[in-house]
Amino acid sequence: MKKLRKDFEILTQMLNDKPIAYLDNASTTQKPQQVLDAVMNFYTTCNANIYRGVHAFGEKATTLYEQAREKVAQFIGAHDATEIIFTRGTTDGINFIASTWAMQHVKRGDEIVLTELEHHSNLLPWQHVAQQTGAQLKFIPVFPDGTLDMGKVSELITSKTKLVAMIHSSNALGTHVDVATITKHARKVGAKVLIDAAQTVPHQAIDVEKLGCDFLVFSGHKMLAPTGIGVLYINKALHDDIPPYQRGGGTIFDADWHTATWAQSPQKFEAGTPPIAQAIGLGAAIDYLNEHVNFDQLQKHEAQLCVQLIDGLQHIDRIRLLGPLEELKQRGHLVSFVVDGAHAHDVAAYLDAHGICVRAGHHCVQPLAKKLGYEASVRASFYFYNTSEEVERLLEVMKKLVKEL
Ligand code: PMP
Repeated sequence: MKKLRKDFEILTQMLNDKPIAYLDNASTTQKPQQVLDAVMNFYTTCNANIYRGVHAFGEKATTLYEQAREKVAQFIGAHDATEIIFTRGTTDGINFIASTWAMQHVKRGDEIVLTELEHHSNLLPWQHVAQQTGAQLKFIPVFPDGTLDMGKVSELITSKTKLVAMIHSSNALGTHVDVATITKHARKVGAKVLIDAAQTVPHQAIDVEKLGCDFLVFSGHKMLAPTGIGVLYINKALHDDIPPYQRGGGTIFDADWHTATWAQSPQKFEAGTPPIAQAIGLGAAIDYLNEHVNFDQLQKHEAQLCVQLIDGLQHIDRIRLLGPLEELKQRGHLVSFVVDGAHAHDVAAYLDAHGICVRAGHHCVQPLAKKLGYEASVRASFYFYNTSEEVERLLEVMKKLVKEL
């Protein structure tokens, strides 16, 4: 996997006079030259708006944009490309479903089941839906080690449940959620299922048909693509039950002064000029992953880095590791920890001074952090271009930092 680093010029830079160790991939990944070239190629050879222009550029741009949709559909096992809606990202996809399907179908007395691991992006939109409709939020509780109390699932998902919206893998702790079991319970009571797959689509093979979900969301920028592009998968069976998210150019079948009728998906759900170059970049990112990255090997590689980091940090005083450590050693791609006596932001700044980029903060899971008894943590997160030398450097700097406390 190390040989792929040559495709990432940014990783050859020095940071504070040290070779850069970029360990913040759960936040956003770096982009390989092939993705940058695809975006540049679009702007230098056929930049035009899509669907509208009958000229050559317009047709080429439309073809490239629709090819990207096909690539996404294949990548996540969607039945057909009309089930793929381009969004700005995971947050946008969840807000889409909250303000369309949910506002139309969720009523007072209904329940929405979430987990206590949710990113704010999969919590706050549902709080808003609950406030607006009179529905209630229920949470599958988390144990102190960051795993879910699955024994509570059948109690929490009942005939009142309208929707189960859950994270696939936690951005804060690395926990993998058993979405298959939870989905089975949801299906039994006729509830819809939304999966926040922001932390899994970049790291493991996903098959929406096998998962049996109604909605699945993820962000391009966490899987080598540019920012500003994400994906919302909507099972075809629901297309007619969902009104447009935004109304405007491109969404209509026919418009009059006072009314309009809607086109079919995906046009109905993508108002205005979409992020064309970014979608083409996402298509190129998927080509890159298909060509160069074997997900089984990737999982082994990331898990090895987790083993090295967890074992190393466990031998340093004052460090408290978070999350299900044994699970992370099997199939994790990130490790979170707190340092007794040093704020996470100070730890991150210290690491930055040594050329190492990590994320520090509450990682958009404030209620979870409060429950587990920490305010902010430091998180190192990996992708295929990371190396054991980088983890070793992180460990050496952490030893030095703790000595200085
Ligand atoms: N959900 C999860 C699990 C995430 O990791 C993130 C990004 N940290 C988001 C949602 C939000 O993604 P975006 O900012 O790309 O919308």
